[in-house]
Amino acid sequence: MNSSDCMANIEPVRLKLDSRFKFKCHKGVKCFTKCCRGINIILTPYDIIRLKRRLQLTSEEFLAIYTTPRLLEKTDLPIVTLKLMDDELQSCPFVKDEGCIIYSDRPTTCRYYPLGVASLSHKKQMPEEGFFFFVHEPHCLGFEEDKEWTIREWRKDQGVDIHDDINADWTDLVVRKRSFPPNLKLIEESKQMFFLVSYNIDKFKAFVFESSFLNRYDIDAETQEKIKDDEIALLKFGLKWLKDVLFKEGSFKLKEGGHT
Ligand code: SF4
Ligand code: SF4
Repeated sequence: MNSSDCMANIEPVRLKLDSRFKFKCHKGVKCFTKCCRGINIILTPYDIIRLKRRLQLTSEEFLAIYTTPRLLEKTDLPIVTLKLMDDELQSCPFVKDEGCIIYSDRPTTCRYYPLGVASLSHKKQMPEEGFFFFVHEPHCLGFEEDKEWTIREWRKDQGVDIHDDINADWTDLVVRKRSFPPNLKLIEESKQMFFLVSYNIDKFKAFVFESSFLNRYDIDAETQEKIKDDEIALLKFGLKWLKDVLFKEGSFKLKEGGHT
């Protein structure tokens, strides 16, 4: 069982990939599912794709039912967190007595727990080998168990690599935006584009294939074919385009007479 408040104001002690720790989470722990209540879980683009598929919803439906819009601290970027239930404990909508009912598709933050990753919450610059820390929550008794891991082993066991790989450009974008001087604000249209690509892949697909996008940008036929039926390829494409637009990288060529 995993969850975390990756927006918590915790001063991180830096852990590297080979740092070791003792931890085990299982149904027998007294605190079972406590970490899935009263939490803030920032959802990443790949989290949304997995969850909407799992629940057989459109991205718009998923956003409306399961998310709360927020602004990411120090970036001014519109993000979403998992919407909690209106019960006394503010439970995650997916937690039941027997555990997480969407466990194999749980969000990135839940996979990392009891670790946090500095990219979304604390650091301006991410070192290449990452920057991890413990999310210290007093109710979590998993640290008293006798199973030892390195951070690297934990990441592998929890299947975070594919999440981090697919979200890489998104994380990079957030980290770069955080390094902007605070007075350098994004215009509303840029924020909307960030939200569209990051969270509403169905609508972004319509934007690419049903607006003037392909008349403006020179996108080769092979790429068009690939992103048409593959949401992950479309997301990666969208994130590269977004970086190009926001940071003026110039890797997306405009057609003659086209404009952004
Ligand atoms: S998604 Fe699953 S693991 Fe994450 S907080 Fe909810 S119930 Fe817990
Ligand atoms: S050991 Fe920690 S991660 Fe596992 S259920 Fe308890 S609080 Fe959650």
